[in-house]
Amino acid sequence: MKHALLYFGVLLWFVASGLAQQPQVAPAQHSAHAASSQPKPSADKLWANLMAGNARFVASKPKIYALASLRQKLASGQSPHVIVLSCSDSRVSPELTFDQSLGDLFVVRAAGNIAGPVGLGSIEYAVDHFHSPLLVVLGHQKCGAVIAACSGVKMPSRNLDAIMDKIGPAVAQAKTYAKADDLVESAIKENVHQSATDVLANSEIIRNAVKSGKFSVIEAEYQFDTGEVVRLNLPAAGQN
Ligand SMILES: [Zn+2]
Repeated sequence: MKHALLYFGVLLWFVASGLAQQPQVAPAQHSAHAASSQPKPSADKLWANLMAGNARFVASKPKIYALASLRQKLASGQSPHVIVLSCSDSRVSPELTFDQSLGDLFVVRAAGNIAGPVGLGSIEYAVDHFHSPLLVVLGHQKCGAVIAACSGVKMPSRNLDAIMDKIGPAVAQAKTYAKADDLVESAIKENVHQSATDVLANSEIIRNAVKSGKFSVIEAEYQFDTGEVVRLNLPAAGQN
């Protein structure tokens, strides 16, 4: 009986701490989890901070970060405030574009800033473990993945087809109102919105975080010609 009670107590502790459903984690991740229990800034404040960083990037006046000491400080754990879902395009770098440093952004990248299962899992990890209050879905001008989807060119592999399949609905939506010379730019914006919508549609963890009022999704586009990140005017996912 005594053993049974002890076993039940240990089982309860495991369930309550969530460890029963998770693989073993390294000590560094335990401390990261502990760090994430500190209060986070609001999504509005975080977005304002990103915009201030983008203004520094545009002006070519980035902050000087003490990277060596930051790297050492962060070795014991991370607690990033902002998640970014971005395209893989080499011309797009969320850390540079928002003038952020080590430990600031949890970045998930895939061509066309699409949210497939692996990307979604990564976003869920940041929401669940770090309680990051903000996801920025970041598209960009002249996105090759969206241009390819608009052209309808046949892809040479199933994996590339999977990317086109994700972008396809955004292209179809853009075609309902955009003229030929505006199709790509409209599809890029629609694709950001599609990815934000996919994130919410396919993740109960993220839907619940939004419902709790502690998590927001912002849709934005990075512009090559000015360097600015512009918040998009389409109704934000989850709010339409
Ligand atoms: Zn792209």
